[in-house]
Amino acid sequence: MTASPELNLPDPGAVQNVPVRLSRAGEAQVRRGHPWLFDGHIDSVRRDGAPGDRAILYDRRNKVVGIGLYDPGSPIRVRVFGRAPLAIDADLVAQRVRDACARRASILSDATTGVRLSHGPNDGLPGFVVDRYADTVVVKLYSAIWRPWLGVALAALAEASPHERLVVRLARAVTDDFAPLGLTDGSILAGPPLDGPVLFAENGIVFEAEPIVGQKTGFFLDQRDNRARVEQVSGGARVLNVFSYTGGFSVYAARGGATEVVSVDISKPAIAATERNLAHNAHHPTVASARHEGIARDAFEAMTALRDAGRRFDVVIIDPPSFAKRASEVDGALRAYARLTRLGLQVLADGGLAVLASCSSRVTPDAFFANALDTADRAGRPLRELERTGHAADHPIGFDEAAYLKCLFARG
Ligand code: SAH
Repeated sequence: MTASPELNLPDPGAVQNVPVRLSRAGEAQVRRGHPWLFDGHIDSVRRDGAPGDRAILYDRRNKVVGIGLYDPGSPIRVRVFGRAPLAIDADLVAQRVRDACARRASILSDATTGVRLSHGPNDGLPGFVVDRYADTVVVKLYSAIWRPWLGVALAALAEASPHERLVVRLARAVTDDFAPLGLTDGSILAGPPLDGPVLFAENGIVFEAEPIVGQKTGFFLDQRDNRARVEQVSGGARVLNVFSYTGGFSVYAARGGATEVVSVDISKPAIAATERNLAHNAHHPTVASARHEGIARDAFEAMTALRDAGRRFDVVIIDPPSFAKRASEVDGALRAYARLTRLGLQVLADGGLAVLASCSSRVTPDAFFANALDTADRAGRPLRELERTGHAADHPIGFDEAAYLKCLFARG
């Protein structure tokens, strides 16, 4: 539980303009509509600014080509808001928050109360991610640029998507930047204190989210549509859900009529949450009658043990955490995906369905899908591809790296 802090949100009126001269690479980056400028994209900065100052982006011929917000302490020196002509002011920020919320109107319903309201740069709000779980809204800040703009953005959010409780989560790199404002990771800025999870609904299924102590904002909403696909194919099936976290895929499989669901995650609290999420949905006869087994163990070890015990499954879902945060880790990530694919195939019944996901933004969709299919070929268990999918519609894709979630549905 975190008490409401004494807030001291600065006013964007104090924001200054910082002229930034782009390099050739930077010009290309802005032309492509990419939201991030690193050191190599910048030739010079006329004077150093504070986080959240406007970065006026000049090309090499002295023409203003774009505008962003300046972040002196981050490897991403500028978060681009758009090409010229554009003015970043309180109205623009508020309008972008309102537009982002409006885009999700068709997803929210009585059956689905969990939705991503802002997907950061893909909604024109770089570093500002917002998930809504029923009456609780969780804002996750990934950049110090929001320091002078937070008050404006939160006011627009309260108006566009009224909520009872507001939680702020801070990425580790920015906790020091927001400390002077009285903000810590997990601060409740509005509404009642929170002692545990909040309940919300996804396609009529009740889930717990942990806005304060959970990963990211407390739940992975990006898999909503893939979970619904799994429900469709789970009738009468034995289902294995590896890297299950709080059992998103497990509950859908159970509601879809799986006879048996096995959830594997290294985290004991995640397995315990999976059991609770199944219990929250026991009013569905299929959920009540599905046999569930939770295994709190390393995925590689658990799959090996299941294989050696002769266990086989009609549906195998493998949705690991990101294996590659930087370019140098991509090869290692692909090897880890290959190992998981082999293990998955070893526990997949003949003709069973493999659901293989990757959320490593550094691993391209082509590399991931080719790796899975080649691995299966080489293992003598070729997979017949059914579908390649990605995020749900509240996770729009605005630039290459934003297509982080890849998911292959294939028959073995
Ligand atoms: N499929 C989930 C999200 C998975 S997030 C969903 O739909 O919500 C990744 C999960 O992998 C986390 O819960 C984390 O605890 C788990 N994890 C990380 N390393 C692991 C390992 N070596 N073995 C098993 N689980 C692991």
